[in-house]
Amino acid sequence: DGSFGTDILSMLDKLQTLFSDFDSEPTGVKQKLVAEAAGLVGRLLNTPVVAPISKPGAACVIQPSASGPVTEKIKELKRGVQFVKGVGPRLEAVLNKKGIYTVEDLLYFIPIRYEDRSRRRKIRELKKGESVSVVATIMATGESRYGRRRVFEIVVTDSTGLLKLKWFNFKTRYMSRFVKDKKYLIYGTVSAWGRQVEMIHPDLKLYDEDGTEDRSVNETADESTGLLPVYSQLERMHQLSIRKVVLGALKTHSSNIVSAVPEAVAKRHGLLDLKSAFELVHLPGAKGEAAVKSAKRSLAFDELFLLEIGLALKRQGVKRSAGIELSCGLPRVVELESALRKKLPFKLTASQESVLKEIKADMGAPHPMNRLLQGDVGSGKTVVSLIAALVAVGAGYQAAIMAPTEILAEQHSLVIKEYTDSLGLKTALLTSGIPKKKKDSLLASINEGEVDIVVGTHALIQKGVEFDSLALVVIDEQHRFGVMQRAELKKKGIKQANGTLLPPDMLIMTATPIPRTLTMTLFSDIEVSIIDELPPGRLPVTTKILREKDRERAYDIIRENLKKGSQAYVVCPLVEESEELQLADVMRTKERLDVLFGGFNVGLIHGRLKSAEKEAVMASFKAGRIDLLVSTTVIEVGVDVPNATVMLIEHAERFGLAQLHQLRGRVGRGSGKSICLLLAQWTNSEDTYRRLKVLEATEDGFKIAEEDLAIRGPGDFIGTRQSGLPEFRFSASLGDLGLLKSAREEAVAHLETDPFLLSAQSATIKEVLKARWKERLELAEIG
Ligand code: ADP
Ligand code: MG
Repeated sequence: DGSFGTDILSMLDKLQTLFSDFDSEPTGVKQKLVAEAAGLVGRLLNTPVVAPISKPGAACVIQPSASGPVTEKIKELKRGVQFVKGVGPRLEAVLNKKGIYTVEDLLYFIPIRYEDRSRRRKIRELKKGESVSVVATIMATGESRYGRRRVFEIVVTDSTGLLKLKWFNFKTRYMSRFVKDKKYLIYGTVSAWGRQVEMIHPDLKLYDEDGTEDRSVNETADESTGLLPVYSQLERMHQLSIRKVVLGALKTHSSNIVSAVPEAVAKRHGLLDLKSAFELVHLPGAKGEAAVKSAKRSLAFDELFLLEIGLALKRQGVKRSAGIELSCGLPRVVELESALRKKLPFKLTASQESVLKEIKADMGAPHPMNRLLQGDVGSGKTVVSLIAALVAVGAGYQAAIMAPTEILAEQHSLVIKEYTDSLGLKTALLTSGIPKKKKDSLLASINEGEVDIVVGTHALIQKGVEFDSLALVVIDEQHRFGVMQRAELKKKGIKQANGTLLPPDMLIMTATPIPRTLTMTLFSDIEVSIIDELPPGRLPVTTKILREKDRERAYDIIRENLKKGSQAYVVCPLVEESEELQLADVMRTKERLDVLFGGFNVGLIHGRLKSAEKEAVMASFKAGRIDLLVSTTVIEVGVDVPNATVMLIEHAERFGLAQLHQLRGRVGRGSGKSICLLLAQWTNSEDTYRRLKVLEATEDGFKIAEEDLAIRGPGDFIGTRQSGLPEFRFSASLGDLGLLKSAREEAVAHLETDPFLLSAQSATIKEVLKARWKERLELAEIG
């Protein structure tokens, strides 16, 4: 009589009809029907019912599930950051840019590391790489120039020696606060430039002999006792201000933090409640690293537990949806594919053929494909995806290929065009770098279906990009993308007459192999294809770990190769806190190498260059006009320049194994013998060395991934969004496969006793799950 929503009525109808022929169905179908019914029941229980406007005689009115205090608390945490004390519109924008929108996001903005500022040194005792405090007097301040960049410098002394402090990006107004002949407490990381010790972007504050501290900068943490959290850089924001804001959020909202992990479970695994865990992580004080670690473990468990509950619920209710059916047998498809094969300068490997078969079978099915293609660096995934694209195009649809960097997108479009142009197809490149006018006409032809294959970057998912008939989406180097980005592309499927959307087939590719152990746990609803051989004739790449004292030898090796007409890369690591520091680092390296490699052309590429500039540098490198390319990790994925035979990786100890393996994949692509030099700075942990040894020993990406997993845990795989699961806020920084397993076991056990989360104990889980994972869990299937 209208008192129930139509949703509910249709679900009830469905439920009723589900079992009409139940008895005569085979077991498999019966199982599916029961699962579907269970899903419906679950949804029914979650659908609020609109009560009729007081209608006398209405027999029974189902009340919407009461929203209890938990819901209220969660709502508070979902408030925008602008409600946190000290956050104005400008800061709000900065935080938003970093993906921090709510109070909760701010709580999950976990420090990347901690500093122990109680460690003091004399200048004479400073050791490179150490982070320490120094008390010293300013002797001189001034500006100097490094290339085109202005650098602010201060020289200080404590009578044992001189120390130079440098700022690459500074406000003159701010710098003028530092006064000559005054004594300061300085904290920073020691670097060396020749024989001169220096600190880049140190923290300074006036030092008071009496020990009375400068209150204005010292409100948020006691620097003399215990650990001080360091957060990932937020534009130019000072660490102190970041700390203040995070602690402000923690202070006003700690009573709203809800722990959803049942108490018995927490006890079994020695977990802290969520509130205490956040407090420890942001304000560890004198409690020490071990306490912080246990707090992080609790945060991670909470996240993993909810994830596993969500996944299990999803499995209960999953039903395969309708998709585009692409026949691989169509004459046009066959024609295009064989024309391409004739043009290829090589034959596909058996492995490529077999994954192609799997992909085609998926594309031919009336459901959306959801397939992950794993294949080591250089195994030839691009050509496989191109053939998949031809299947879509041959059947009269469009295909899109998305790559994480402009460099890679451009490279793909060049390679693909080379083939497709002669097949009479139209391939276009779409990046955010192309001029507006050109872009508008390009968008129009994509929309009208004139373009068959669109290759692009994130620009593909922006508003205004509408396809005529998108049937296949390829995502290259998928670990570089977030789940949301992939979901956006999926939404660009084909609109049907009845208003529903036919999602495109998805082929996601990665060269960072995901260990089986993790695939089993995490990829519950995605198919996996693996290319497990390299094209014939590849020479193995020799890998060598070198120490700082071997630097000259490394340069000699590069020089020898350059003299033979080969090319080389020098890669500088990502500096996590700050892009500025990284930039300073590559520029310095470039200047040094310009001098050392006089007579050769040294190029520079990094993320801050405009896209046209990047393109120009890559084009010069490809054409051999640049001999030696100094780069940040922007060249990590996909870049294919076969004439490059040497790669020198600075600070190799700072990279993950999988990433090093990716980088190394940039060499050994041609017929020349290649070498990868890992220049590791001395570190006190032998672990680092052992880790790097793995790379020396093997080129098998799967072995390396397993080792990485054993050494660092699953954090990286989950954290780099490998899994295609909801983006983890926290587990990213944690590596512990055991924890993931326990969380899964506990989640499964919990659902066994309470499959629809109906018990009182489950109420909190349900609330938190709904709030935290709702949209995200819907995305999990996208992979
Ligand atoms: P990745 O899997 O790392 O993306 P690419 O698709 O870039 O690898 O392929 C690496 C190189 O190998 C390319 O130059 C490509 O042309 C070449 N290649 C691909 N398949 C074969 C094959 N079957 N035989 C020989 N070379 C191949
Ligand atoms: Mg590739």
